[in-house]
Amino acid sequence: MNLILGAGLAGLSASYHLGHENCLLLERQGHSFGHIASEMREGFTWDQGPHVSFTKHEYVRELFRRSVDSAFEDFPVCVGNYFNGHWIEHPAQTALHQVPEPQRSACLASFLQTRRGAVQNVPDNYQDWLDMAFGPVFTELFPSAYTQKYWTRPPADLTTAWIGNRVLFPDAADVETGASGPIGRPMHYINTIRYPKQGGYQSFAAGLKKGSNIRYGADVASVDLVRREVVVTDGRKFNFDTLVNTLPLPVFIQACRDVPEHVLDAARQLTCSQLVLVNIAVPHVALRPEHWIYVYDKDKLSTRINFVEKLSANNAPEGWSGIQTEVYFSRHKPLLQSPEEIGALVEAELIEMGLIDPSRFTRGRTSHRHVKLVPWANVIFDHGTIAAMQKILGWLEGFGLVREVDDLHPLTDWTHTPLRAIKRAHLFLAGRFGQWKYYWSDDCVMRGREIGRLSRQ
Ligand SMILES: Cc1cc2nc3c(=O)[nH]c(=O)nc-3n(C[C@H](O)[C@H](O)[C@H](O)COP(=O)(O)OP(=O)(O)OC[C@H]3O[C@@H](n4cnc5c(N)ncnc54)[C@H](O)[C@@H]3O)c2cc1C
Repeated sequence: MNLILGAGLAGLSASYHLGHENCLLLERQGHSFGHIASEMREGFTWDQGPHVSFTKHEYVRELFRRSVDSAFEDFPVCVGNYFNGHWIEHPAQTALHQVPEPQRSACLASFLQTRRGAVQNVPDNYQDWLDMAFGPVFTELFPSAYTQKYWTRPPADLTTAWIGNRVLFPDAADVETGASGPIGRPMHYINTIRYPKQGGYQSFAAGLKKGSNIRYGADVASVDLVRREVVVTDGRKFNFDTLVNTLPLPVFIQACRDVPEHVLDAARQLTCSQLVLVNIAVPHVALRPEHWIYVYDKDKLSTRINFVEKLSANNAPEGWSGIQTEVYFSRHKPLLQSPEEIGALVEAELIEMGLIDPSRFTRGRTSHRHVKLVPWANVIFDHGTIAAMQKILGWLEGFGLVREVDDLHPLTDWTHTPLRAIKRAHLFLAGRFGQWKYYWSDDCVMRGREIGRLSRQ
């Protein structure tokens, strides 16, 4: 029997690929899908932050297509930046013409100066990486300000292996062209996005879930890796031959029995951001063309804003806009207000930014909002992460975990990672928080597929 902890995307994919008939999933909540769950409320469909598919993996595209019976839409993405009252195309480094003066000239001069310098090795420190990529002036105004809002840490605290293609390292010619006018071609790493017509993003995983065996309300309390037994908070016990963990690694380690102090310590060092989602139903159509917007202003809580009806018209009643705003915090940047107070402050910010206009509310209609807390959002890759992971994985190896070539790396290269099955694994880690990686939804699907393959070898 394969026991899978967590029925988010990674857990569902592992079960699907191991064969649902061989698996039992334990899920704390009353529903599956974890972070890709979509909440239906008063005619709106709210995902947890903007969730769109831009996967290059044909395998995942096909699974998602079948899940929704081809009822999805592909469309070009429109992403923007808000900076002190100015609207700037994304990425801002190649749209400097929209940055106000005197910052525009200062950004360009500092960029050109930096690029005249000697080419360095790729720095392991995000602050150095940003300075090398953009020059210090743009760095300070844009990515550094955003890093502190989104990652809740200064860039110097972060490493760089997680970046991949997520932050555009621009050609000098593109920056210069973009400083005098539109560059004329998309520069964002996401060009086209795919989204289900009905039911929100979670619909893409319906096919993975179909036929699975899930125990809801099963909150994992303790894991005995020697006796191969999991106990949930209501006392039910489950035995396993193979365990797949998708719970956040620090939660999993805390639940394990007889963990040495140095491993517990390492688990405590792993940090992740948390998220307050402010969902506001507004009785007028969206006043901006973007699907989502990044906000750089240090005096605003709003970090990223998306409009749910722009992904599918079925996500909101006609004539209404579902504006969702992300506000990040962590133990490095604690919440200073209650979630409700944050909701009210964010709504005021959206009015100031011109995204909500009460004068356009149709007679008798007002906006209404609800706030949701997401306790695990983005794994933070700081300078202590690898050493901590090494201790944790090293300990788990003693209980049937087979180490993998890239298990300390934030990303997985699915085209090149060789499958290694030196010995049979009895313990797998899977998913964004289970593996402590910077995974998108397609990575979680691919991981489940890989576990299925490894277990058959
Ligand atoms: C704001 C945001 C935006 C994103 N946007 C995109 C996007 O546009 N495109 C994209 O591809 N990806 C996106 N992602 C990434 C994607 O959501 C994740 O990679 C994926 O959903 C992670 O799935 P998972 O199964 O690894 O983890 P989870 O979804 O967290 O699943 C883990 C499951 O374990 C359960 N669990 C936790 N503790 C216990 C316990 N003690 N006992 C039992 N069960 C427990 C949880 O309830 C959950 O169901 C985004 C993520 C975030 C946070």
